[in-house]
Parts: sequence; structure tokens; C-alpha cells
Amino acid sequence: MEEIRPNWYRIEIPLPGTPLKYLNSYVIIGDEKNLIIDTGLNHEACRAAMQKGLKTLGVDMNRTDIFITHFHADHFSLVSMLATPQTQVYFNRPDAELIESWDGINTMVGYSKGHGFPVAVLKRAFENHPGTKFGTEWVPDLKLLTDGQTLAYGDYRLTCVATPGHTLGHMCLYEAREKILVAGDHLLIDITPNIQGWLDRANLLKHYLESLKKIYDLDVDLVLPGHRRLFGDHRARIDELLAHHAHRLAEVRQILAEAPMSAYSTAARMTWDIRADTWEDFPPAQQWFATGEALSHLRYLEGEGEARREMNDGKIVFRLVASA
Ligand SMILES: [Zn+2]
Repeated sequence: MEEIRPNWYRIEIPLPGTPLKYLNSYVIIGDEKNLIIDTGLNHEACRAAMQKGLKTLGVDMNRTDIFITHFHADHFSLVSMLATPQTQVYFNRPDAELIESWDGINTMVGYSKGHGFPVAVLKRAFENHPGTKFGTEWVPDLKLLTDGQTLAYGDYRLTCVATPGHTLGHMCLYEAREKILVAGDHLLIDITPNIQGWLDRANLLKHYLESLKKIYDLDVDLVLPGHRRLFGDHRARIDELLAHHAHRLAEVRQILAEAPMSAYSTAARMTWDIRADTWEDFPPAQQWFATGEALSHLRYLEGEGEARREMNDGKIVFRLVASA
């Protein structure tokens, strides 16, 4: 438990078996109502840490609302344990629609086949995914917020900042007087937020890069990220992330210059910071994330007119468009 500002706390929620290590849940204590920002997996270790923290702070869930930055299980799922009939659960529309249309592994099998990803590997990744094992038990009524709306708890006024990219509906909160940005997984230090390209109707990397530029101009002293440590100088971090993706795009261009390729084959040729000797040795979940990451960059190049997709033997391959 850490006090960040008067009546504003961080509770560390362990995420066993994930490389993220833990989730940062933030709690603002107000006079009438409190606010919890992000919750954890529906996992015993998360439940225990959350309950201990809330007890220490004397939080009564009948007088507490919840804001969730995006739909991923490590942020969302513990809501089913926490919410009472008095709890307002704040969320965003694009991610709520994704939850509503969720059909388990079926949609992913379709994506998988289309992009050359072995379905057997997907099935193994899916079975072991924390979202499958520790997902929410039920989805409460969600109060959907849009960009620019404000929430007031205690002495703090939080402005919603829509930051699509990590997910289509990802939302940050900005406290202007304190110069605090609650960043969810939009900005993380030490690890690069994962940008997936599986959702074909959206160009998430383009959204992400725009969302980075959108928060660049905010006056920020302290970033409260969804994982890992708190940090300042958000502009330096944004510059690093922009450079990272520029570098990744250059790498993908170079790979496509050799031959048109599926997202799966592109991912197998990219460099990854994973302890495995060969692509085949990557754990199934890491192959899935890597291919999703490759796809978001391919999709971006497609959007810029630098690549186009073609069908090859029932699979989508991306071909570099020759520049004039
Ligand atoms: Zn997360």
C-alpha cells in the first residue's frame, strides 16, 4: 500500500504466472463515495490482496465506484467480486461492445486460419490464458463514459481521455491540478504496451500512435501506470515508444522486401525479447502475441498504402507496394 497523494492510494495486486508481475489498482477516498481504478484477475491471489488493501483503507463497497481503463482480464475481471448494487462501474463503449460480442475462441480461430497461425497452437495459448481461467463471473451494468467527461471523488477531478490503441476503447484519466495521468496500459515503463492487430476492422497501431501524441501535450508530473513502477517525464517515454514502433515498422518493411508474407511468418522473422532459441520454442501465448503485434504493424503499413494484402492458398499475405 502506498499513498500517492492525500487520500489517493495504490494497491499492488499480484498477477501470478504473468510477465507483468502485478497490477496497480488505485483507490481514491472521498467524503461520500470512493473510486477504485482497475481491479485484477478473478484469481484468489488478486482477491486476497484487494480485500486486504480495501480493509486497511476502510473502504465500504456500498459507497464505492469502479473505473476500468480497458477490457483485459487483469484490469476488469475482479469487478465481479467487488461490485455491489450501489456501485457505478465506469467503462467505455468500444470495449463494452467487444465484451458483448465475445464468443470464446471461435472468432480467434477464424483470425488464426486467415493469418497462417496454427490453430493447435492457438488452442494451447487460449487454454492457458489468464483471461480464460480467471475471467469475470458476470458483467455488471456498465456506465459508459466518453472523452472529456469528468468524475469527481474527494478533492480530485478526473477527466476521461480516450486513448485507443492497446484496446479500441482504452481510456486514461487526467487530474489537471495534480498533473497526474492514470495511464492504464497506454504508457508503461520497462515494458512496451502490446498493440495487437487481430481486430481487423481497426488500425490499432495508427490509433495508438495518435493517442501517444494526444497525451504528449498534457502537463504531467506523475504517471500512474497499470503495471510496474510509477514514473515522471511522460514525454521522454512517449518519444521512446514512438521510436520503438518506427523501428518495428522498418523491420517489417525489410522482411516484406524479401517476399510477401503472412502475419505468422512475419512474426517468426522479427526479433523478440523472449528467452527462447527459436521461434518454434516460443510458448504458444507468446507466439500469439507476437503474431498479433506483427499484424498491427502490417495493418498499419497497409493503411499507409505501403503494403497490400493478397490471398495465397487460403491465407492472407502482405506484399510491399513498390514505391514510385
Ligand atoms: Zn494490463
